[in-house]
Amino acid sequence: MTEPSPLVFGRTHGHDQLSGHEQVVFCHDRFTGLRAIIAIHSTALGPALGGTRFYPYHSEEAALDDVLDLSRGMTYKNALAGLDHGGGKAVIIGDPEKDKTEALLRAYGRFVASLGGRYITACDVGTYVQDMDVIAREGQWVTGRSPAAGGAGDSSVLTAFGVYQGMRACAERLWGEPTLSGRQIGIAGVGKVGSKLVDLLAEDGARVTVTDISGTAVDHVRSAHPEVNVADDIEALLKAGVDIYSPCALGGALTDDTTATLATAGVRAICGGANNQLQHPGVEKLLEDSGILYAPDYVVNSGGVIQVSDELHGFSFERAKGKAMQIFDVTRRIFALAGDEGIPPAVAADRIAERRITEISQLYGIYLGK
Ligand code: NAD
Repeated sequence: MTEPSPLVFGRTHGHDQLSGHEQVVFCHDRFTGLRAIIAIHSTALGPALGGTRFYPYHSEEAALDDVLDLSRGMTYKNALAGLDHGGGKAVIIGDPEKDKTEALLRAYGRFVASLGGRYITACDVGTYVQDMDVIAREGQWVTGRSPAAGGAGDSSVLTAFGVYQGMRACAERLWGEPTLSGRQIGIAGVGKVGSKLVDLLAEDGARVTVTDISGTAVDHVRSAHPEVNVADDIEALLKAGVDIYSPCALGGALTDDTTATLATAGVRAICGGANNQLQHPGVEKLLEDSGILYAPDYVVNSGGVIQVSDELHGFSFERAKGKAMQIFDVTRRIFALAGDEGIPPAVAADRIAERRITEISQLYGIYLGK
């Protein structure tokens, strides 16, 4: 089968990327001061699903760039997670600490509802489970709600579980067995995802080193796992010579410099929960050339979207966990294709996602009858 052109899905940067999006909606409500942008990148696999970011962007253009980029990323993430969802994302422009009100969230909820299910929202930076409950008062196309409201609750539970599955696939690729037992794992950022990852790794018998700028976050981990080592900062963790490095804090963690440091320290693989880990295109190739196995971020951190998407079918944790378990197989397939074709895993992941989008969207050409 021929590979689709990258432009089919708008995998380009800068303003050209707009051409790849199906629909971009600017929302304004003068009474509540709401300014939001909803970007639907693709509905080829089903309704677009992705979170709402509430962030004080310095300009509308910066917000637009972010939402276009994030929504395109969701198309790939949802495709590889095996979901019947396309990619979308929304941004609310403002300071969540100061500007978030019930009326503003509900105004936003009405814009989401007005899209009739073409876009389904969830939590992201600056929005929380309780905000989704408020947004859901204006329509049904909202996930990431509280368990009391029929929602999946905190999505970091299955995000961490998915990252752990990705790490098992790394271990199998590197050492022949899908276990982290006896391996040294370094986690940068032990917030919601990182701390739950420590629990899973401890259970598997791994030796864990963590770092976090928050002393409270470190204390929380150490109180549950006194055996965990603590590095002073990320720089110290990068140099500590762990087997697998796991970025679980902010995006852009992998740069030319960090790659060189990790290679010198003998790190064998990278597998973490943070979004957009590669600081710029080309880092994936540098990692490959440095002999470091990179588990693509959007594959291994898809447990969260798997968890919230299950809400649309009446949430079942066990069913969602079963789906998140498949992150192990998907990561293995990516490593296998990368090995066979001599390409970085990040490129292999994009190809598998694009193939699924092309194949499944063609099904809609089969007429179902009346
Ligand atoms: P969080 O805010 O709970 O945790 C992040 C942690 O990183 C915090 O403890 C913070 O103190 C720490 N941190 C920030 N800067 C740091 C630095 N320079 N050095 C060391 N530690 C630092 O967030 P989270 O929900 O755990 O998400 C972590 C990452 O995973 C984010 O990139 C997020 O976008 C991504 N992600 C999260 C989910 C989810 O379900 N929560 C899903 C997919 C992706």
